Amino acid sequence: MAARAGSRVRLLEVHGCLGGVWTAGLLSLVLDMDKPGFNQELKRRLAERAPLHSSTRNYFYDPEEMKLLLEELCVQAGVKVQLFTRVVAVQKDGFNRLTAVITESKAGREAWRARVFIDATGDGDVGALAGCRWEVGQAEACPCQPMTLMAMVAIPNPAELRKFATSSDKNSSWQTVTRDEFRSELGRAGIEPSYGLPSLFHVRERLFNLMINHEYAILPYDADAVTQATMRARAEVHRVVRGLRSLGGHWDGLQLVATAEQIGIRDGRRIRGRYRVTREDLVAGRRLPDAVTRPTFPVDIHAATPEENRIAGATLNKDITMKPYDIPLRALIAADVDGLMMAGRCISGDFVAHASYRVTGNAVAMGEAAGVVAALAATSGRLPQEIPWEEGVSLRSKLWSSAGGAGG
Ligand SMILES: Cc1cc2nc3c(=O)[nH]c(=O)nc-3n(C[C@H](O)[C@H](O)[C@H](O)COP(=O)(O)OP(=O)(O)OC[C@H]3O[C@@H](n4cnc5c(N)ncnc54)[C@H](O)[C@@H]3O)c2cc1C
Repeated sequence: MAARAGSRVRLLEVHGCLGGVWTAGLLSLVLDMDKPGFNQELKRRLAERAPLHSSTRNYFYDPEEMKLLLEELCVQAGVKVQLFTRVVAVQKDGFNRLTAVITESKAGREAWRARVFIDATGDGDVGALAGCRWEVGQAEACPCQPMTLMAMVAIPNPAELRKFATSSDKNSSWQTVTRDEFRSELGRAGIEPSYGLPSLFHVRERLFNLMINHEYAILPYDADAVTQATMRARAEVHRVVRGLRSLGGHWDGLQLVATAEQIGIRDGRRIRGRYRVTREDLVAGRRLPDAVTRPTFPVDIHAATPEENRIAGATLNKDITMKPYDIPLRALIAADVDGLMMAGRCISGDFVAHASYRVTGNAVAMGEAAGVVAALAATSGRLPQEIPWEEGVSLRSKLWSSAGGAGG
């Protein structure tokens, strides 16, 4: 959105593709995307490429199609992408303004100056390096939501497996039934997966997505622990696929296509912004004057320990009823350093609110808003917090109407 608004944009990404959990994490399901703007454009463009199983709020996508689409969109918008490049440090001036991020890659150490930076690292790496206050998990440092290594599997005869697969166009009670059936299939193969609500998602044709794993109490910035978790999880995924295949019948020919390059991290750092979205906001369904998106996804807190997983099932959100609530622009603007915005799961919020707004339909809408505001700030020599919300809304509408109103 910043590039479409005429700004020069550089996108620095440590992995070999764009999209994060969507692609490197092999997610394959976009939730809470019934929102105008980029959410609609992405869904429409994906549907042009491959059949999409979708409802108005959710859809399944093929991660390979998503990888290519994101690259094409960046190229078309004039975004300069640099893959395999990790942000490892920052520079600030004497007035506490972020002036550069430092990266490391095979090209060596490089510094990138900009007027505005957007931390979309999921784990809030840029904000933390810049010295911003941050939180993770429920308390100062965990318990965190568990991590999950996702995988893609293929089957020669998909029709037989549909009865075990969660689908976007069915309601949640139906999903519980299919999940129970899938779990009993796992039981038949002698498998008790580490995730109490193991799921099989039908992505397209012969391709399914497998979510069977939980890795508990791992901090995303503990590289050693994340490595151990990834290796444990990969071994579990292989065990599960081998076990199901050994059942024969409708599992005959089941093939593991890929495990994710990046283990899925639910809980990362939440960088302190000029507003902190809280549990009270979502219980009250708070409306705010500078809203950038309105999450409707319920609080989704996975078990924090194997014991909780066994006793309470995989999610522990039963007592918190949310109403659709607003994420304000202020939650996307760092409180402790100037020139830094956040988008996605690292915005400013508490543990409970994050367990709702983190899903990707909201991350997309946040990224869209941050891009527009960053462009306005960069081109006018102002800071993000000096951009009136109405100015952002007006530029956003102009961009969508010049694109033929595709975003609504
Ligand atoms: C297992 C799992 C299942 C989920 N299920 C769903 C679901 O079904 N539907 C849904 O909508 N949401 C789901 N979510 C939530 C959702 O996927 C994430 O909250 C969302 O992807 C967050 O997007 P993001 O862009 O903020 O972060 P990420 O997707 O994590 O993207 C961050 C990007 O920044 C890059 N990066 C990180 N650090 C650096 C650095 N220092 N330098 C350069 N690049 C860096 C990463 O490589 C990555 O590409 C799930 C999450 C997990 C983990």
